[in-house]
Formats: sequence, C-alpha cells, structure tokens
Amino acid sequence: MNEDILEKQLYDDEAETFRNQLATVTDDGKRKWVYPKKPSGKFHRARIIVSAILLLILILTPFLKVNGHPFMLFDFLNRKFILFGILFGPHDFHLLVIAMISLIVFVILFTAVFGRIFCGWACPQTIFMEMVFRKIEYWIEGDSKDQRKLKSAPWTGTKFFKKFTKQIIFFGIAFIISNIFLSYIIGIDELIKIITDPPSEHLQGLFAITVFSGIFYFVFSNFREQACTIVCPYGRLQGVLLDRDSIVIAYDNIRGEPRKKFKKDEGWENRGDCIECYQCVEVCPTGIDIRNGSQLECVNCTACIDACDDIMDKIKRPRGLIRYASINSIEKKTKWKFTTRAIGYSALLTVLLTVFVILLANRTDFSVTVLRTPGLLYQEQPNDMVSNLYDLNMVNKTFNKIAITLKLEDVEGELKLVGNKIVMQPQGNIDSKFLVLLPKDELTTMNTPIDIGIYNEEKLIKKISTSFLAPMKKTVDEDEED
Ligand code: SF4
Ligand code: SF4
Repeated sequence: MNEDILEKQLYDDEAETFRNQLATVTDDGKRKWVYPKKPSGKFHRARIIVSAILLLILILTPFLKVNGHPFMLFDFLNRKFILFGILFGPHDFHLLVIAMISLIVFVILFTAVFGRIFCGWACPQTIFMEMVFRKIEYWIEGDSKDQRKLKSAPWTGTKFFKKFTKQIIFFGIAFIISNIFLSYIIGIDELIKIITDPPSEHLQGLFAITVFSGIFYFVFSNFREQACTIVCPYGRLQGVLLDRDSIVIAYDNIRGEPRKKFKKDEGWENRGDCIECYQCVEVCPTGIDIRNGSQLECVNCTACIDACDDIMDKIKRPRGLIRYASINSIEKKTKWKFTTRAIGYSALLTVLLTVFVILLANRTDFSVTVLRTPGLLYQEQPNDMVSNLYDLNMVNKTFNKIAITLKLEDVEGELKLVGNKIVMQPQGNIDSKFLVLLPKDELTTMNTPIDIGIYNEEKLIKKISTSFLAPMKKTVDEDEED
C-alpha cells in the first residue's frame, strides 16, 4: 500500500478510536456516571417551552372525550384502539399495517433529512430526563460540581436528607408517569376507578401501576442516558439512517481547528476558533465530545450549542461553531439539498399516505358480507316457492349495541333468519345464516339479482346486492313434449 495512504489510514483509525467504546463506560466495563453541567441559552429556553407544551398534551389527552368516549386509547389487551375519537379494532388490521409502514418510512425520511431532531425536542425519555428529573436533581443537589462533591462526601445528615428527598420525589414522579401511561391503555375512567375503589377490587391494575412505576423510577434515577445509547433501537439505527447531507448537531471542524487554549493578547491567525474550554463536553448529558464528530450517543439536546455560543460571545467570535448543520455543508460548503434518497422516501411516503387516506375515507361503521352458502344451489319449497340459503358476516365497528333486521328490497318474497334476532355488541362480529324465498313464477332467469337491506330500528344502514339461483325455466316446446 502507498505510504501516504497507509499513514492516512492509520491516522483515520486513530481519530475514530473513540467510537470503539461508549463514553459512559470505563475501559474495564464499569459505568461512568455523567454529571452534566446545567444547560442554559436560547435553544434550552426554546426546549423548555416545547417540553412544557408536550407534557401538557400528554397529561391532558386522556381526559379528552368525544361523545363520551376517549379521544385516544391504546387498549392492547382487548385489541381496541381509539384514535382522534374513531374506534379501530382487529377488523382494521390492514389500516394499522399501512399506518405502521407509513410511520416507519416517515421516521426514516425525517431522520435522513433532519437527523435526530425528534430525540432532542420530542422524545418522552429526553423530555422527562432533562426537563423533569434532571431539573429536580439540580434543584436539590446543585450543579455538576456540587453533585460530584456530594457524591464523594461522607454520609452526613445533609447528604442523607438530599439523597433521600431526591429519590422520594423521583419515585413520586415515576408513579405519576406510570398512571399517565396506564390511562392511555385502560382509559382515564378505569384508572380513576382503580385509584378510588378499595385496592382489593383492582389487584391486577395496582400490580401494573407498581411495576410501571418501578420501571420508570429505575430508568430515570439510574439507567438514564443508557436508555438512549444501549436500548433505544432508533438511536442504534442512526448509523444507517443518517448520511452526510442529514442535518445533525455538528462541530464545524473547518472553522474550529486547530484548536488551542485562548490567550487574550494572541490573535486568531494560524489557529481555529475552538479554545479547548470543554464547555460543550461538560454540558453533554451523554458524556461525549461532539468535536469528535457525529456519534450515536448524541441525543440532539442542543446543550453543547448553547454552551459554545456562550463562549463565542465571550471571546467575541461568531456564534455557531457547534450548530445544526450537515457534514457536507461544513466540509464542502454545499447548500442544503433534498437528496435523491430523501426524494425516493418522500415518493414512497406519498403513495402510502394516499392509500391510507383513501382506505380511511371509505371506512364504514359496519362491514357486511353476504355469500350464498357454498355447495348449495336452490331448494324447491311448498307453494311454488324457491329458496336460497345465505351466509352472513357482520362487524359492528361502532361504540353502540345495535339490533339488526334484514329485509328484501324491491322484490316480492320472504327473508327468514336462521336462529334468533341479531343483536350486535360494540366492536362485535357475528356470523349467521338466512333463507330467501321467492315465488317460482317471478323468476325468469337462473340467476336473479336481488338486494338485501340491513336495518337498525327501521333505519337502513347498508344495502347488499347478491344473486338468487333458481331452476331453469322450461320453454314452450319442452312443455308441449311433456
Ligand atoms: S465549547 Fe466551543 S470553544 Fe469550547 S471546547 Fe467546545 S467547541 Fe471548543
Ligand atoms: S453532543 Fe451536544 S447535542 Fe449531543 S447529546 Fe451532547 S450536548 Fe446534547
């Protein structure tokens, strides 16, 4: 191999060694606890507002009702989902599949273009961790330096009080979060019942709340950033979702290098704008140095942007040494463009969403299938009547119980239901059979089209067209031969 290439290869390998291990894990595999410095700045202020709005939406949504039913419900156990007041059940599985595929394509497209913006601004894990639990920690234990000091201090009354109070508050909030999430699964009314009824009546529900609370408490008090770096599949997929045109939180190495400590009397020639102050590293909640390049641990929390902008203001250099930018826009100074990959994903997403909207618009409250019973033709009946037997399948997709009657439309004859009257439960599915009897004289062809009306209390809810089989009519010649 050419020596220059070999040297560059070695240099690149060395520069990338930070990728060989997680920033929060020591060489011998132990956890490195992160004590991020309190963030402040315009991005942080904006994130506080966005987080407050999203938390409010999350907390209030379970209380919203449409016609007495939840606005949103994800009842996985009973396979019942309510989205924006519309009830979806197992019969809507095709819609769910298309919605899930659209969501995945949307996430891929959004990430390919805007990077992990969702993680920093809207992910519940980041919002709860950075805007709720971390804030309480700063309030009780102080900024990172105080927290470190407290950690290494001997166990005094003050230390015990601070640590104990923090854990109690953390568990209290984890308990509230578990109740909020449970209200999306079982509904707010059921949750209130569990809270207000004697505990012995809802042992299962109480068990679920306790388990959820324990999990949330563990995640936010101990597991923390590892949920994003080790567990979250979205975080781990960044390597394949991002490309050099994706907008990420990036350090402008062209402007920042060569980095050097700042001395007041020195000029800015032959050096970069990075003054090696490590403020961007100190504030990072995942413990990384963004100057190494885009990394899977970065949750796009913007703390390093604010920290660096603050330093740039102090040393009177332009802001944005760390900013939202694509790697190509930094290295090649290219303007942001919609890449071929993004165009492809957009086209696919448009097709999926179009199919989804068409299916949703044509979705009815009832689905009815009427088929002539397989293997049977027609039956000759007394009084010159002919009958056909039909299979009926009905799905009631509404919240209401309904009584169903079937009637023959625009034809003389009789319709007899096999068995009892049909009463459909909300989200119910019914299989039944019925007979249609028509006078032989009226049947001029072997296959007569007929309409069957499906009624709920005299209100026509659906009209189904099917066919009626009859014996072949004898011609005049055949009659004479007889
Ligand atoms: S905060 Fe800015 S100047 Fe300071 S080390 Fe980080 S990138 Fe360099
Ligand atoms: S590198 Fe910056 S944006 Fe990424 S997690 Fe750390 S502080 Fe947040």
